[in-house]
Amino acid sequence: MPEPRTTTTHCPYCALQCGTRLTRERTGVVVEPTDFPVNRGGLCQKGWTAPALLDVPDRLLHPMVRRGGRLRAVDWDTALRTVADRVRELQAEHGSDAVGVFGGGGLTNEKSYLLGKFARLALGTSRIDYNGRFCMSSAAAAGTAAFGSDRGLPFPVTDLGRAGVVLLAGANPAETMPPLLRHLTAPELVVIDPRRSATAQRAALHLQPAPGTDLALALGMLHIAVVDGWVDGDYVRDRTTGFDAARQRAMSWWPERVERITGVPVRAQRAAVRMLARADRAYVLTGRGAEQHAKGTDTVAGFIDLALALGLPGREGSGYGCLTGQGNGQGGREHGQKADQLPGYRSITDPAAREHVAGVWGVPPESLPGPGISAYELLDAAGAPGGVRGLLVFGSNPVVSAPRAGHVAERLAALDLLVVADFVPSETARAADVVLPVAQWAEEDGTVTNLEGRVLRRRRVRVPPGHARSDLEVLHGLARRLGEPGHRYPTTPREVFEELRRASAGGAADYAGISYERLDAGEALHWPCPAEDHPGTPRLFLDRFAHPDGRARFAAVEHRPAAEQVSAEFPLHATTGRVLAHYQSGAQTRRIPELAAAAPEAFVEVHPDTARRAGLADGDLALVSSARGRTAARVRLVDSMRVDTVFLPFHFPGAGRANLLTNPALDPRSRMPEFKVAAARLDPLPAD
Ligand code: SF4
Repeated sequence: MPEPRTTTTHCPYCALQCGTRLTRERTGVVVEPTDFPVNRGGLCQKGWTAPALLDVPDRLLHPMVRRGGRLRAVDWDTALRTVADRVRELQAEHGSDAVGVFGGGGLTNEKSYLLGKFARLALGTSRIDYNGRFCMSSAAAAGTAAFGSDRGLPFPVTDLGRAGVVLLAGANPAETMPPLLRHLTAPELVVIDPRRSATAQRAALHLQPAPGTDLALALGMLHIAVVDGWVDGDYVRDRTTGFDAARQRAMSWWPERVERITGVPVRAQRAAVRMLARADRAYVLTGRGAEQHAKGTDTVAGFIDLALALGLPGREGSGYGCLTGQGNGQGGREHGQKADQLPGYRSITDPAAREHVAGVWGVPPESLPGPGISAYELLDAAGAPGGVRGLLVFGSNPVVSAPRAGHVAERLAALDLLVVADFVPSETARAADVVLPVAQWAEEDGTVTNLEGRVLRRRRVRVPPGHARSDLEVLHGLARRLGEPGHRYPTTPREVFEELRRASAGGAADYAGISYERLDAGEALHWPCPAEDHPGTPRLFLDRFAHPDGRARFAAVEHRPAAEQVSAEFPLHATTGRVLAHYQSGAQTRRIPELAAAAPEAFVEVHPDTARRAGLADGDLALVSSARGRTAARVRLVDSMRVDTVFLPFHFPGAGRANLLTNPALDPRSRMPEFKVAAARLDPLPAD
């Protein structure tokens, strides 16, 4: 069928998934926002400029294979045969787990699903994980433990607009997803962030803790809720378990102690709790600032415990949620890209789950590999004894976005085979042995699941340029060359989605009742949706939580310091984050002229006193160092920065990579690295 000239779809970037209408004009594709509930006619500058991504000058148009040290254009058969032959050699020599897969939270549901199936069946490897591990894994682990199920927002975004108070712990939607502000209209917005971010500037109350101390603050707030009599006793009795242990833990976090550790004044702690507790409707939302720590799961759990004590989750108009980051960060973690999960959000170690999924795939359950290892562990061991010798990367750019990025780049260089499927020559693609050019958002159909668990249709408005192909076709072609029957790897999104529905049926993220037909008819379908006559579930947990007894669990967590402490050599906290103009590693947005002009280079935000002590002035080039590496960044003096903290956005490549500094210390449960706090120093950049 020819592509329609106009179609409705969704933005290629963040998890808000703003609704857009695309029109193919003689001059190119034109975008306009739709009145979709999450964006209500708004877009941010990334969304407005998204069509330019389709025709960036260095768009990948041909498969390429490295020969004589250079990537050279080849035909598809040569590229796929090269990959398949090398995979077979490596696995024959080193075993199935010698080849791994690294996926992405921007891939559609169909691609995420087929990638997981491809890894487990065609490659027979347990070594699959994805960049969402670096994004929402702590919130997922904490949410699952507390509620028995993990959906970023267990309520529609539009519910936020009716709240009296919203507390944002480590989230900066004014830059990451600006249209969300249309819903953050609560009279009282409370923001917890070491920076006075664009969101914090709009807040009625800004709590500015030292990086890595959010958990102490959450425990202190629970302490205040208990001591000042704000706990919702009926709710705690009727809907939760474990409160006594959580209260006991919080008792040693009296406000003065919390002020000493976090720097947040006692009166501000009290004010925040009072605002939340007095509101008829209130939400506690976490973002990467609370989650990207070696204690990220416990930090999120600390905020969930606070929300439970105040009786918020599972009440219409109140609740806890996580502001998911990547475009399909929610769906990407549901369909089998995670090292420990099978489709439907099932555990890969659960015998019943293995039997169900194996049945859908038409293989014996015992043929499915067991759990693999997490994203950083996969990258850290790449090319080393016991690690993968070959890695297939789909929709990710770990050379820029992984922690300790210099080390990760070295590990990837040590591989015998690095294959990258992407539509732009990202920094990781440039290092690859084989590059596979793929289609992007407006060139193919599919579905994504946004931050509120709503499944959305992406639709195409034009064909891919050059020789670019859908990732589904790439997986089909590779699987066949690896000896798999082709019918196991459908190439149309609709066929893959139909299989995904069956595979997810009965799981936590149940898509069985969701069809392209229902989505195309405009139905708002939030999972779980177990049958075609089921309306979907926009609000989870209203009657009961997903644990067998229907009760939410307090976690009773304990604060611990950041994995790395400041020292005489590294006296500052370095923290990382995002800016309005760029998305993730910047591989896409750095190629859009308007966005590149808005944020052209790496920078570091520094308090004027801190800069003066380092001999730096506004606009100077600084060298920021940690125990893992050094990065160059332009100094921006910001009066509101803490004097002990510098901030760097992580979107920039080369010598400006913020992740050259970051600490790969991992959360014991979610395996999230400690992106948000590293000990660092600041110096003038030497002239040479
Ligand atoms: Fe909307 Fe996010 Fe796209 Fe901006 S980047 S237009 S907030 S989906």
